[in-house]
Amino acid sequence: MLSFETLVFPVMTLMGLAFLYSMILRSFSDTLMASVAFGVLFGLGIILAMSAPIHIGEDLIFDLRGLLVGLSVVFVGWIAGLITLAIGVAYRLYLGGGGVALGCVGLLVAFGIGIGWRMLAPKMSQMTLVSDAAFGVAISLSLLSVFMLPYDIALDVMAEIAPNVVVANILGAVGLGFVLRREAQYVRDTEQLRIYASIDPLTNLLNRRGAADQLRRLSDRNVQGRALFYFDIDRFKDINDVYGHAAGDAALAAIAARIEGSVRERVIFSRHGGDEFTLFMPNVHEDAVGAIGERFRRSISEEPVHFQGEDLSVSISVGAHWTDGPADFDEMLAHADRELRRAKALGRNCISQSAMPAAQVGLHHDWPLSAGAVH
Ligand code: GH3
Ligand code: MG
Repeated sequence: MLSFETLVFPVMTLMGLAFLYSMILRSFSDTLMASVAFGVLFGLGIILAMSAPIHIGEDLIFDLRGLLVGLSVVFVGWIAGLITLAIGVAYRLYLGGGGVALGCVGLLVAFGIGIGWRMLAPKMSQMTLVSDAAFGVAISLSLLSVFMLPYDIALDVMAEIAPNVVVANILGAVGLGFVLRREAQYVRDTEQLRIYASIDPLTNLLNRRGAADQLRRLSDRNVQGRALFYFDIDRFKDINDVYGHAAGDAALAAIAARIEGSVRERVIFSRHGGDEFTLFMPNVHEDAVGAIGERFRRSISEEPVHFQGEDLSVSISVGAHWTDGPADFDEMLAHADRELRRAKALGRNCISQSAMPAAQVGLHHDWPLSAGAVH
């Protein structure tokens, strides 16, 4: 008899599994760590499933553990499946009783079915509902482990439990399949939106928000010093006015690509807005900043941008700021911006730089090391 109480437990389990599944999807970027976490999650699902089994006599219990091992393999992979299997076997051993060997073999068979399904699944029906239901049927084959019992008893047990277990497996596979797929799709969509929101479509660089996000996540505590380069294209309005907006767009994309191509270090390079770019470089020595900025400047001015048969001659001004204090982007940007304006005032197509040793951080005072035009 299907009562409210018998429904509440699986529904709560399903919701809990779905919630934790999506949390793991969001939290782990490392695939191995995620596999381990999923394996443990499905393993916990097995322990829950085993606490509401169908009892046959003293020793035999039947539940959805096979389905959970199988789903762990199919939805995550063999590593997760193996962990789920290990938890299932360990818990079945802990529960003890005469049906232990049979229970463990059933789990092993379910794992094997999961592996086989994973290899066959890409060739299966595109209709996920149908293929999930079919998986519920396939995983029910693990019930055949009861034939380890004497043949007569096995037949009796099968007659008694097979219909219920098969139906429960089909419903479970369809229900969990639907929920887990929807969660995975949701996490994928959110990630895609996050990427769209942090990328500048013209240059494919990070935008200002994307750069700020990456900077926040950057762990550069052991870094010796960090520099922020702030670039602005010289007389960019003229390019738009003379050659048109499309030429301006092409120049922006070409300049971004050229600077990106001239970077050997790990950096956070972004289009800050309009014709301005920022490039954050961790682990750089104060003495190297001038030469690096100069390398960027030359990479632009040395060769014109080709656009529809025209050669557009372009250059950038560079403001650079170096600090061995904390990577406070806004503060570094304010200093680099001041240097950029200085470079513009000095005649453009040059670099101006300042530095702030850690001991001085907080005084909001900077030391121009060199502010000279380099043509
Ligand atoms: P300066 O040397 O002082 O920097 O002179 P400038 O002409 O470059 O002046 P400014 O940097 O203030 O001008 C930026 C111009 O960039 C203004 C705007 O028309 C143009 N711009 C901003 N975004 C885009 C874009 O996405 N595409 C194009 N084609 N032009 C843009
Ligand atoms: Mg400009």
